[in-house]
Amino acid sequence: MAKNTKTAKPTDKELLLERRNGFLRLSDAEVKKAFKFAEGYKAFLNAAKTERESVTFTIEKAKAAGFTEFSPKKKYQAGDKVYYNNRNKSICLAVIGKNGSRDGVRISAAHIDSPRIDLKPIPLYEANEQALLKTHYYGGVKKYQWTTIPLSMHGKIVRADGSELEICIGEQPGEPQFCISDILPHLGKDQMVKKLGEAFTGEDLNVIAGSMPASKEKAENTYKLNVLRLLNDKYGIVEEDLISAEIELVPAFRAEDVGFDRSLIGAYGHDDRVCAYPSLEAIFNCKTPKSTAIVVLADKEEIGSYGNTGLGADYLRFFIEDLAAIDGVPARHVLTKTKCLSADVTAAYDPTYAAAYEAGNSCFINHGIGMSKYSGGRGKSGGNDASAEFIGEIRNLFNKHDVLWQIGELGKVDQGGGGTVATEVAVMNMDVVDVGVPVLSMHAPWEVVSKLDVYSTYKAVKVFFEE
Ligand code: MN
Ligand code: MN
Repeated sequence: MAKNTKTAKPTDKELLLERRNGFLRLSDAEVKKAFKFAEGYKAFLNAAKTERESVTFTIEKAKAAGFTEFSPKKKYQAGDKVYYNNRNKSICLAVIGKNGSRDGVRISAAHIDSPRIDLKPIPLYEANEQALLKTHYYGGVKKYQWTTIPLSMHGKIVRADGSELEICIGEQPGEPQFCISDILPHLGKDQMVKKLGEAFTGEDLNVIAGSMPASKEKAENTYKLNVLRLLNDKYGIVEEDLISAEIELVPAFRAEDVGFDRSLIGAYGHDDRVCAYPSLEAIFNCKTPKSTAIVVLADKEEIGSYGNTGLGADYLRFFIEDLAAIDGVPARHVLTKTKCLSADVTAAYDPTYAAAYEAGNSCFINHGIGMSKYSGGRGKSGGNDASAEFIGEIRNLFNKHDVLWQIGELGKVDQGGGGTVATEVAVMNMDVVDVGVPVLSMHAPWEVVSKLDVYSTYKAVKVFFEE
């Protein structure tokens, strides 16, 4: 027997897939809700520009929402809210469901690291009466975009005595900022004829740190010394302390509305805080779910999910194993029945660079959360490929709850490609599909997203948890 369900003969309009802009589909009240939701999102963007700051923000909000630190030794009831902080750079949150983990759990997985400029372990040097910092970029950046923009400095330093120091310089009005220089056009003859990918090298991304000597005496390293003296006065550190440090330079811009109609948001690091924030709001606001709901905010996605805070590590699996043990069920059965949204951004169709996209299968700004059946490059290499059955389930769920959603590929076949944490999730034998907000200028210091798409992502994760 075929399992096809036959309904009444569709009209011509029903025969065709309708792809329409959210402003043409949503009520004025829904649009208003989306614009309001964006205000909370912008506040998050301004408060948390790094993975560490995102975890700090998350714990603060989670505690206020009634979450407590998870203990594998405790028993939990339906509706209990817990979090597990993995090394201050990644975090799992859970709301215990009525069935606990017995029928699998539901996960929204986003990442909180973004492309940026990191300091090298011995960064400070002087050259021709300037103090400069050597850097090593993190993630996929177009290097030219990171020159001549205001940068702020964020991170952690561990001193020789083991004491820890957190820094954040250049975010508050009146604080100094940093920048990477570029050659003036008048002297850019050699640079201008180079290929874009070769004109700016990693070793050219040197950050200006100062230009004053330590004293009027002529001395070697006096410009470098002056910076070290200032750092010692303010933070009590010496040069060797910069070795046990993680210092990240990120754009000092604040999140702002874009366009006369304020329909878009420009900011640093939408990828992937634009999925992290709606996931957090969804788990904070969801009704007690049937199956335990989990949000995982991962680090290191931008460099391939490596390291013990990336989703290539086992902390999410260990967390689920602990939940399974509390419920007295084998963890592998829980994992096998688990469903996951890999919540990460996708490329938004850009009319200025239309040649890179296949418009018929692209995600569009204001068309809602974008689903990608598969990721990867070339012949879908290195990506996840969600099953027709799982896509069918998620598609019906979104339609049932009026979630504005769309489907698309990253760009034209063989134009490039990309991956997400979906591959790391799939190896645990879960069902997983890529969903996320379409982004213009992805990985640039100032990325752009639509308010309707951000709000749609919140609704999508919430109905996924509550189903
Ligand atoms: Mn991403
Ligand atoms: Mn990315």
